[in-house]
Amino acid sequence: MSAVEVEENTLWSKVTPAASGFSALTGSHDADIAVVGGGVAGLSLVYHLAEAGMAPTLLEAATPGSDAAGKSAGIIVSLSVRHSPCEIIKKYGEDKGRRLVNMIGESGSYVFSLIHKLALDCAPQQTGFLAPARTAQELQRVNLLASEWRSSGYEIKTIDREEICHLSGLDAYQGSLLDPAGGAINPLAYVRELARVAAGQGARLFIDSPVVKIHKNGNGWRLQSNNGRVNAKQVVLCAGGGNRNLFAGLERTVLPFKVFQMATGPLDGKIREMILPENHAMTDVNPNIFSMRYDKDGRLITACPAFMFNNVKNRIVRFVEARLENFSPLLASARIRYLWKGTTWIGRSILPRFTEVSDGLFAIQACNGRGLAVNTILGRETARFIKLGHTENLNLIIEKPDAVRYHGLLCHLPAILINTARLRSRVMSKFTGLHRYN
Ligand SMILES: Cc1cc2nc3c(=O)[nH]c(=O)nc-3n(C[C@H](O)[C@H](O)[C@H](O)COP(=O)(O)OP(=O)(O)OC[C@H]3O[C@@H](n4cnc5c(N)ncnc54)[C@H](O)[C@@H]3O)c2cc1C
Repeated sequence: MSAVEVEENTLWSKVTPAASGFSALTGSHDADIAVVGGGVAGLSLVYHLAEAGMAPTLLEAATPGSDAAGKSAGIIVSLSVRHSPCEIIKKYGEDKGRRLVNMIGESGSYVFSLIHKLALDCAPQQTGFLAPARTAQELQRVNLLASEWRSSGYEIKTIDREEICHLSGLDAYQGSLLDPAGGAINPLAYVRELARVAAGQGARLFIDSPVVKIHKNGNGWRLQSNNGRVNAKQVVLCAGGGNRNLFAGLERTVLPFKVFQMATGPLDGKIREMILPENHAMTDVNPNIFSMRYDKDGRLITACPAFMFNNVKNRIVRFVEARLENFSPLLASARIRYLWKGTTWIGRSILPRFTEVSDGLFAIQACNGRGLAVNTILGRETARFIKLGHTENLNLIIEKPDAVRYHGLLCHLPAILINTARLRSRVMSKFTGLHRYN
């Protein structure tokens, strides 16, 4: 067991200055456009609306970044490893599919260019993202993905066993995809910085103002909070998992998947010279996912799915420390110092979705465990759509809410799938006697 007390707050909340200058909504306000939720999607949207000369109003239940964004690992990826461009185009058709591919493909580099343009103080590391493969089958998939993203115009590389061993510091992998546009950020600082800039450009932001009810009000909508209300012509719901509580049509559109995220203390320079020596962010493509990145002070950040029947802190810490050691004996001395839990929300298509829920009421539903980059760019595209009133020449497609059939039954499916993958990997390693990468 870890010898040191483990913090149950997120690492980010410890190292990030608080958002200041915002207050709760009181009284009645009118707005052309109101946004619900101050995570990545909502704050990117209000920033881009304000930049375009509009004056949006945003209501956040707690503080900016207090849900998935601020609990995330902060890894920036500019491609989907679950869908290749051809698969996306096959699903949506040439025109819509191509828009989605372009939006996803541009998303990573857009985050870093926005950070640079606005001088957002959020420890950006555009050092590249690795998606390594453990098996021959995974390697085939990685090669296919890289080749299709390349054909779509994005500079995605593949690297061989020797190079991934060097870049990861691990011998678990046969090869990898490398996205040079990817990397990592402090996600809480990113969101808080977006809030600061958006407010500076004229967006009205209210914190501690949960929207408790939405109803039609003449040609627009009324958002009711605890101590105030906003009447708006158009509304965009950006409340992440909270969207499902805001409008009946969204109730069964996403499935929860709980994840433990954790960080060690700053690692010794000698370990850092061997493990991720060039400071890449990494998430492998095995169903029993393993991920690593460093924060700016050399803390290693990793994750594991929340086990269905066992949320005991000490056991999780023990499990993750043993897992790190399994991947590399060099990590045997790494101790978990921060442990926190978050929920990612998975949609049926596992692709970003912008939906028209009702007349003038829209929702961004794009978490799928990978929303930092894609929600940023969805915010930009949504702002352009609101400004223009159409999607011509935009990388945005408008869909209808897509309910998950047998939702009640399937609620545990993401957790069941990943736990099965973990179990399978344990059994295989027992029978094959191979190194255990569980
Ligand atoms: C543990 C974990 C690790 C992750 N790691 C990564 C990663 O490394 N890279 C990556 O790209 N993605 C990652 N993700 C996913 C990423 O965090 C999400 O895709 C992204 O944050 C979604 O952004 P969002 O703005 O839609 O939602 P959120 O960030 O959840 O923001 C929604 C906001 O709405 C507010 N809200 C909710 N209900 C209401 C209401 N009724 N009224 C007003 N406000 C409301 C919430 O307080 C919250 O601030 C991770 C997620 C988790 C949980």
